[in-house]
Amino acid sequence: MSPSWNNVRADFPILHQQVNGHPLVYLDNGATSQKPRSVIDALVRYYERDNSNVHRGLHALSTRATDAYEGARARIAKFINAADPAEVLFTRGTTESINIVARSWGHAHLKPGDVVLTTEFEHHSNLVPWQQAAKAAGATLKYVPLLGADGEGGPDLAALDQLLTPQVKLFAFTHISNTLGTINPVAEFCRRARAVGAVTVIDAAQSVGHRPLDVQQIGCDFLAFSGHKMCGPTGIGVLYGRRALLDQLAPDETGGGMVVQVTYEGATWKPAPERFEAGTPNVAGAIALGTACDYLDNLGRDKIAAHDTALVTIAMEKLSALPGIRIIGPKKGAERSGMVSFAFEGVHAHDVVTFADEDGIALRGGHHCNQPLMRKLGLTSTTRASFYLYNTPEEIDRLVKSLQRIQKFFAG
Ligand code: PLP
Repeated sequence: MSPSWNNVRADFPILHQQVNGHPLVYLDNGATSQKPRSVIDALVRYYERDNSNVHRGLHALSTRATDAYEGARARIAKFINAADPAEVLFTRGTTESINIVARSWGHAHLKPGDVVLTTEFEHHSNLVPWQQAAKAAGATLKYVPLLGADGEGGPDLAALDQLLTPQVKLFAFTHISNTLGTINPVAEFCRRARAVGAVTVIDAAQSVGHRPLDVQQIGCDFLAFSGHKMCGPTGIGVLYGRRALLDQLAPDETGGGMVVQVTYEGATWKPAPERFEAGTPNVAGAIALGTACDYLDNLGRDKIAAHDTALVTIAMEKLSALPGIRIIGPKKGAERSGMVSFAFEGVHAHDVVTFADEDGIALRGGHHCNQPLMRKLGLTSTTRASFYLYNTPEEIDRLVKSLQRIQKFFAG
């Protein structure tokens, strides 16, 4: 049975407020999601009862904090179906996770003449680290083209086959585009990459909290995501890495907590995950991220995905009817994730966002950390409405009304 989505709203205290005299409509979930009461309570409970450093103390609070921290790791491993909790590394978020792979793996494995492959529609966090890694190694960065004048055709799969030569050592790609809403066939990408011996890195920032995700079924080597986009806190994220690869990888950061023995001459490393978690981690964040996993799985990520699809289908239909609108990404709601990016002829995205804010609606306007993609599509910016489990069809009606008001203002 599907959850009652209106009851779900009661779980999110922040939604029950007025903004500029209107009930808040929060449609900026691609940037960050709101937090249910259970996640907020997990943070408060930790600081009120259990706050202590992990892995270092023998007293009761430290034991409790360590158990809860490692319990969260096991919970998150289950959330993505990792074979072993040691494959889950806590980081600050997607950006840090990808940088760890780019620096550690890139430094160890990339050499002149190698190719790193990515796509033309990556978030800067899954693009700039590869530019840096390729530059440092004398390797070349290549891009799988995006098809269609509005990016509606998705990745060019024929070009992918041409590009996937044995020179490709790593293929990094997003699961869901944060601007287009495109859903990449990630298991297929991994299968093709494996055939040429390339390591795969998936940016799952926009997907893991919105649909079921199974790293073993996908067959990826690394996968990165952020807690704050999936009902968890900011400042916590995950790098999943296949155990065999993590065991060979040198740490990116060194310090306390990740060493076995230190002498004046050198040091030896613990195995994963500790090897990659130097210093005091974000204990409260990790625990609350585990709670967010419980929250999402209790609702059912398949049901959340269906809810996203229902909302985006309504939004596509209603927004397409507005004059002078250009929607980028897949044309059909069923083929995209729960977000719509669009440009209005003659109205800058920042004006759209400012006007919508007057109506109590939170949108995002700008390049969405996709500057090369914007340039490719001949745009400087778009407005993005991104949905999540607490959004409703009535909120889309409010959005449409607001956009009509904006168009009327700028037409006059
Ligand atoms: N990748 C994608 C697809 C994103 O949408 C984002 C954030 O918007 C990121 C990476 C970066 O995430 P974070 O800022 O949490 O590190």
